[in-house]
Amino acid sequence: VNEVYARVDAVEDKVQAFITLTKETALAQAAALDAKGIDATNVLAGIPIGIKDNIVTKDILTTAASKILTGFEPVYDATVMTKLHEKDMINVGKLNMDEFAMGSTTETSYYAKTANPWDLSRIPGGSSGGSAAAVAAGEVSVALGSDTGGSVRQPAAFCGVVGMKPTYGRVSRFGLIAFASSLDQIGPITRTVEDNALVLEAIAGVDVHDSTSVPQPIADFTTDIHKDIKGMKIAVPKEYLGEGVQAGVKARVLEAIETLKGLGATVDEVSLPHIEYGVAAYYVLASSEASSNLSRFDGVRYGYRSPEAHDLETLYTKTRAEGFGPEVKRRIMLGTFALSSGYYDAYYKKAQQARTMIIEDFKKIFADYDVIVGPTAPTVAFKSGDYAKDPITMYMNDVLTIPSNMAGVPSLSVPCGLSENMPVGLQIIGNQFDEATVYRVGQAFE
Ligand code: GLN
Repeated sequence: VNEVYARVDAVEDKVQAFITLTKETALAQAAALDAKGIDATNVLAGIPIGIKDNIVTKDILTTAASKILTGFEPVYDATVMTKLHEKDMINVGKLNMDEFAMGSTTETSYYAKTANPWDLSRIPGGSSGGSAAAVAAGEVSVALGSDTGGSVRQPAAFCGVVGMKPTYGRVSRFGLIAFASSLDQIGPITRTVEDNALVLEAIAGVDVHDSTSVPQPIADFTTDIHKDIKGMKIAVPKEYLGEGVQAGVKARVLEAIETLKGLGATVDEVSLPHIEYGVAAYYVLASSEASSNLSRFDGVRYGYRSPEAHDLETLYTKTRAEGFGPEVKRRIMLGTFALSSGYYDAYYKKAQQARTMIIEDFKKIFADYDVIVGPTAPTVAFKSGDYAKDPITMYMNDVLTIPSNMAGVPSLSVPCGLSENMPVGLQIIGNQFDEATVYRVGQAFE
């Protein structure tokens, strides 16, 4: 824990990965653990971990990187936090992110501009940019992020670290500040594939507080992780290497595919014909769910309250006008519009239909194949400031990560080399609840 804070002191002014450091409580927890003695069978005991700031932490400021949660100290822990405490992992701080996890660059945060440790003039990706940057900069070896349309995998790819979005329902969302409830999952960001699997084992499991969490046998992603991948069937969708994928990214992914062949896997080209509707459908569905989820921030219950309010109406309107940033407002307006009675069938219902078609595409492939591979993102990390110029291009950058959220399937990003001296991520997608196979392929590749 001391080493974490020494490293934070050395690099944090440049990287700005954290919103809040929890030095006092972390050191107290470490001291208590030293006094108690570490259980040698628990490999996670005493390991420092950073937490994305949309995961609620009892008595510790939790902002979701929004002004509207100024001063919000939750009275309870998210289920993932309870599980980490049971393993004696130590929360060393809360990590920066895009406001309410809406974004791909971590630039919509109200609090800080996180830099990519590989090149400080570039963004770390998002929305879990603080989590990925903290791991890449060596501040922590493990962090938690959340992934609604790519927010664990894309920043992991951009920062050259490992990120997993588990199967929808694998990890409890209780205490994850909701963005789009049908898509959100919490996942680990780590330096190695095996560390990632260990942390996911710790946080996985059905939870009485989350009715969308799914009962499954005890999560075991590590027993078979070192087994070889001879004879495994890998599918490469042609849409994942098509137009818009940078040449350098494509080259690294093609090399990775050769490596997987060399390890004994068979590789075929396939098609996921409906993923071309993924981005459009996602931004309708995610914004619709967000417009409903974010209605709870009204100045009454949490955090910020406008000092200008003089009656109930202005309490709501002024608090929300002052408390939410522009990207969040854009999503609330888009979602409210899509759900309004005159437009519901044209947008929300259509988007749901597109989602069903994407789910069917994946089902067909997984009837014949063990995993799907492709790039995590079509580009390497871009320069800071690019997002503000062109939000639509930023939305398009999610084209390769969104389909996994739509279909609820697990997806891992592992580093597969450099382009423009920046890391490229290889995405490994598995069938529902088959994280074990996804990790095994990731481990073989690593
Ligand atoms: N970039 C996507 C968005 O802005 C995904 C965000 C996420 O996964 N939380 O919605």
